Amino acid sequence: MPRSTPEHPLQSERRLQPIFVALASGLFGFVLALVSLQIMLEILHAQVESDLRTLAETIRNAPDGSTSSGTLSPMVSIAKSRTEVPRSTADICTERLVQWLDGQAQVSLAEARTALAGGVCRGAAVVVTPEGEGGAFTVLRALGGDDRSVRVEATTIRQSDITGIRFLLSNPAMMGLAISISLSAGLFGYFLRRSQYRAYVNIRQQAFTDELSGALRREQFLANVRQTVDRVHEMGGTVSLLAIDLDHFKSINDSFGHGAGDEVIRSCGRLLSAAVRDGDIVGRVGGEEFAILLPNLPKYIAAEVADRLRKQMASHAFCFDGRDLFVTMSTGVASLMSTDSIEALMDRADRRLYLAKAHGRNCVVWEDDDNHDY
Ligand code: GH3
Ligand code: MG
Ligand code: MG
Repeated sequence: MPRSTPEHPLQSERRLQPIFVALASGLFGFVLALVSLQIMLEILHAQVESDLRTLAETIRNAPDGSTSSGTLSPMVSIAKSRTEVPRSTADICTERLVQWLDGQAQVSLAEARTALAGGVCRGAAVVVTPEGEGGAFTVLRALGGDDRSVRVEATTIRQSDITGIRFLLSNPAMMGLAISISLSAGLFGYFLRRSQYRAYVNIRQQAFTDELSGALRREQFLANVRQTVDRVHEMGGTVSLLAIDLDHFKSINDSFGHGAGDEVIRSCGRLLSAAVRDGDIVGRVGGEEFAILLPNLPKYIAAEVADRLRKQMASHAFCFDGRDLFVTMSTGVASLMSTDSIEALMDRADRRLYLAKAHGRNCVVWEDDDNHDY
């Protein structure tokens, strides 16, 4: 049979836990760092493009072999290659170079044709610029030759189309910076949310719990009973209810003063709450009246729990003004029946409480006119 446990009022607020906010803030920080980096890269790309033009000019004018292939930075790479082109006729020479450039240097055909026709075959250096949007520049240099061929060197300077995330991955310093930003954002979010969450939990706790005893207020307790009863009717299971009333409480007020009575109520609430399981719900439903909802406990076990609580209460010394006060309690136990409304359940527990009083107090009553509870 499916079992159910009533939801504590604060359990439904798990989604507000600071750790979730910390994770969200951390993620937000990381995305923020990435977006900032991407914007920075766009600005850098524009700058690098103009630097590449200057670099191409420099290579064109540099002495032979003074540049080498490789990566200048994550944003710029240089590729260099050489070939020998037959110097038969200008047309053949141009055609061969175009084939070669088409495969290696990847400049546009039109640009290479123009450049080579005017340059290489006369042994002069040529700059082919630029190729498309990516900002690639190819510098062709005729390195020398004889009557039959020309030695040609092509240096292509290319601006890498790097994205923020690739830049981060290839650059440990930047990665460290992004992680620090996201950690800081995460911690900031965590502590901010934690303080808000604590304030929120305090306010809710105050709203739901009785200040004196720390047990749930009557309305909140009844709301829990209603929720649990509905769930048990829907899904099956059991739930028991203890109706508790302190015995001769008036005489404590009369003999030791109202302060002593308050102190006893405060301690009783703490004692009852500490003595039951997590998931059991303790409410203060009247002046010196408490009730406890015991989910998943059939009546006869609930009666054992009630008797254990009764003994604990009777043997507990409540200390007030240096004196030990003792108090007993009477308890009525009822378990939900399939036809029960919440009112019927509470009414049956109350009737048994009155029977306990009638039987002389400091006792538990869990059977009377019906014994077919489940
Ligand atoms: P019984 O065994 O029949 O329950 O006797 P009783 O004296 O406990 O019952 P009665 O209903 O006659 O008296 C309950 C008393 O509890 C009366 C009221 O002044 C006192 N009381 C209720 N709430 C509080 C409280 O918050 N603080 C204090 N100090 N006393 C309270
Ligand atoms: Mg009473
Ligand atoms: Mg009483």
